[in-house]
Amino acid sequence: MNLALALDDLLGHPDLARVVEDARTHTEAAGYGWLLDQAGAATQHTQRILAAIAAEGGGDLLPVTFTQHPDWVRLGLLDSLATWITGQSSTCLHGPDPMRPQPVVAAAWKPGLIVCTACVRLLSLRKGSPKDRTCDGCGTVVPDTGDIWANATSYGEFVYRFGVCDGCRYWPVPAAA
Ligand SMILES: [Zn+2]
Ligand SMILES: [Zn+2]
Repeated sequence: MNLALALDDLLGHPDLARVVEDARTHTEAAGYGWLLDQAGAATQHTQRILAAIAAEGGGDLLPVTFTQHPDWVRLGLLDSLATWITGQSSTCLHGPDPMRPQPVVAAAWKPGLIVCTACVRLLSLRKGSPKDRTCDGCGTVVPDTGDIWANATSYGEFVYRFGVCDGCRYWPVPAAA
C-alpha cells in the first residue's frame, strides 16, 4: 500500500480520535511511531515557520485544517513526506533526516527535494520565470507572478509550499492591509 494514501486515510477519517489509538499501535509496529510523536512535538516550531512564510508573502496564517485542503495538496504533501522517510528524496547539504527530527520544507514545484529551514532559498524559482508563474493545482501558466497565490501547509514538522492560480484558490482572499 502506498504510504501517502495510508496516512491520508488516517487524517481524513471522520472518527479520528477513536482511530488514532489503533493507528498508533499499527504505526509503531511498522516503525513509524516517532512520526506520530514528532508530529505533536514539532507543531509549535512549525507554526512559527508558517507564520514567517506568510509574513514574507504579505499574507496571513489561515485556520485551514489538514483535511480541508484539496486532495492534490494533501496527497502531494504526504507523498513528499513518504518519499523522504523512505530515503528517496534529495536534500540540502545539511541532510535533514527523518530520524533526527527538525522542521523541514518541501515545495510542490520541486518534487523530491527536502531542505532544512536554513536552506529554503533552494526551493526558490527564478522570479517571473514560467515555473514561477505555474499553478501547482491545474498547471496553468499565468501572465504574472503576482497572479499566483502562495500558500503552505504542514503535517507535524513537515512544511509543504505551493502556489495556485485564482481559479484553484480555495481559501478566502486575505483582507487588504
Ligand atoms: Zn540545509
Ligand atoms: Zn490553477
